[in-house]
Amino acid sequence: MIQLIRNILAGEGSLWVAWINHYVIKNKDFYDLSESPTNSWGINKLLKLRTDARPILDAGISKTKKIWEEIREKHNKVPWHKVVWFPLHIPKASVITWMAILDRLPTRARLSRMGIPTDGLCVFCNEEIETRDHLFADCNFAKTLWNSILQLTQLQKTHMSWEVRLDWSCRKWKGKSLISTVMKLAWNTYIYLIWEERNRRIFQNRTRDVDQLLKIIKEFVRIQLFGRNINRLDDVNASLCNYWGID
Ligand SMILES: [Zn+2]
Repeated sequence: MIQLIRNILAGEGSLWVAWINHYVIKNKDFYDLSESPTNSWGINKLLKLRTDARPILDAGISKTKKIWEEIREKHNKVPWHKVVWFPLHIPKASVITWMAILDRLPTRARLSRMGIPTDGLCVFCNEEIETRDHLFADCNFAKTLWNSILQLTQLQKTHMSWEVRLDWSCRKWKGKSLISTVMKLAWNTYIYLIWEERNRRIFQNRTRDVDQLLKIIKEFVRIQLFGRNINRLDDVNASLCNYWGID
């Protein structure tokens, strides 16, 4: 979208850019325009992005990769970055998926608000409206998967809303202890997999159950910790290795 802004300012790129310049911006300054309910969602979205876009474009950054790095730098400063940006040695595309998930997740509830047709229901239970909070915390599918993770970690199962859990995770999993590492890895994989599973169900009509997802999470945690020097004389560590199958 920042590339689009660049094209609009340069007045080049496509018929759409020409259209925006002619009908929306007219003779005004792009940076002075205000958001308006009469604009399309896309245009208001571009206008919202101006504060982020300006320093990047003013600095003459034009490669998408570089723009992405600039944005990522900035987003790293938000409080949840310690949990969310825990190094996941998975392909780059997944990191981009992350941003989408945690920043502005296109849930069905959001799509409905944007006027995009959807029944708005969660694909896991088909009962509740698919909001971020429902998908990742309140839905029975998410709850069962999350509780299984807590069980493997011997942590107490108390239901937490999305916000509370995020806050709890940020405060609790700070250090380098084995349990912190396991929980950060598990949490990352959990969010990633729920979103991936939701998309598989919607777009590919393929379904995995909680046990299959739990198996993937365990495998991921195990691989990430492979070869790590763990003090197994510590009771907590010993039981973690046992439950998670860490060699
Ligand atoms: Zn649900």
